[in-house]
Amino acid sequence: MQRERIRKTNDACRFVYNWALETKKKSYEMDGTNLSWFDLNNRLVELKENHPFLKDVYSQSLQQAAKRLHIAFQHFFRRITNGKEQPGYPKFKRRKAHRQSFDVPQFFTVDFVKGRVNLPKIGAVMTIIHRRFTGTPKTCTIVSTVTGKFFISIIVDDGKVPPPKPQATDQTSVGVDVGLTNYVTMCTGEKVGNPRFLRNALKRLQCLHHRLSKKVQGSRNWEKARQRLARCYERVVNQRADFQQKLSTRLIRENQAIMVESLNVYGLLRNRQLAKSVAGAAWSQFLRMLRYKAEWYGKTLIEVGLFAPTSKRCHNCGHINMALSLEDRVWICPACGKLLDRDINAAKNIKMIGLVSIITPREPRVGPVELSVVTEASKQETPPISVE
Ligand SMILES: [Zn+2]
Repeated sequence: MQRERIRKTNDACRFVYNWALETKKKSYEMDGTNLSWFDLNNRLVELKENHPFLKDVYSQSLQQAAKRLHIAFQHFFRRITNGKEQPGYPKFKRRKAHRQSFDVPQFFTVDFVKGRVNLPKIGAVMTIIHRRFTGTPKTCTIVSTVTGKFFISIIVDDGKVPPPKPQATDQTSVGVDVGLTNYVTMCTGEKVGNPRFLRNALKRLQCLHHRLSKKVQGSRNWEKARQRLARCYERVVNQRADFQQKLSTRLIRENQAIMVESLNVYGLLRNRQLAKSVAGAAWSQFLRMLRYKAEWYGKTLIEVGLFAPTSKRCHNCGHINMALSLEDRVWICPACGKLLDRDINAAKNIKMIGLVSIITPREPRVGPVELSVVTEASKQETPPISVE
């Protein structure tokens, strides 16, 4: 019963989201008006009259669906302002997406003793509550996966302000280089290998794909095979997320400041090589974790611009080795004769660029955009930062 109600709410919210996207698009194409969330909510009333099934669902969840679209557009416009190569116009949501979710912004309660979350129009849902919280619950999000699992996440305002960020020094900060062979290489010389969960599961996935293709589409056995395949994929995703959570927490805990190279993830995603496109998606997730954890724990995350010569530049003397190719994992600096490990050298350079951006007083705050401008300009001839 509850499953059915959650499914209905998912369907209704997705319907509203897609409707809102189309309405917004049409209205813009017709006379250039940009409908606000408020406008969309006004039209939602009429939509509900025409589609009675929407009335079975908690109305605030529907409004939140329209709000999500509104936010998607805000992000889209922000990306345009920031000059992103691919701003990513909001997309329609598919019924078959492997995750469906909706928000309950109000009138839900959590019963810690009985292990239940009471949701309007859905009822008291038996839940494994992972931790108790204090403070004001803000929004509750219900996620359903294609493998038939349900998750509830609740945003709570604990009234605390983010901790202050102490000034980072050379000793308390770390430079991190990310790559395909090694997931991260730190300037300290430590390397964390790339676990390649996907590649390990590839044989099994191929087999499951093959089995699915032999079944009659829509049949019971087909549905079973589809579930098995979905579970296998889910496992890969979970393994990777777990690995990234642990690694990002460790980096944040052990250092006051973390310097990373901001990645051209879009470029990687366009890459036809599977490994690279997957890595691209995984890295942006890893960066996201580092960003929010830095905020939580009062640490500084510095994203160094893409155009800095981090690999080709010798961290010892500043010489830029233009002859360095991708295959050279280890090289000897022609200027000072030092033996360099490609990734460790890059991590050291990233750290230095990051440190310089902290020390050099700049206008309000150092953003990644500003940084990339600085480093790009200096890329052309002399090494940007002197070591001595
Ligand atoms: Zn050198």
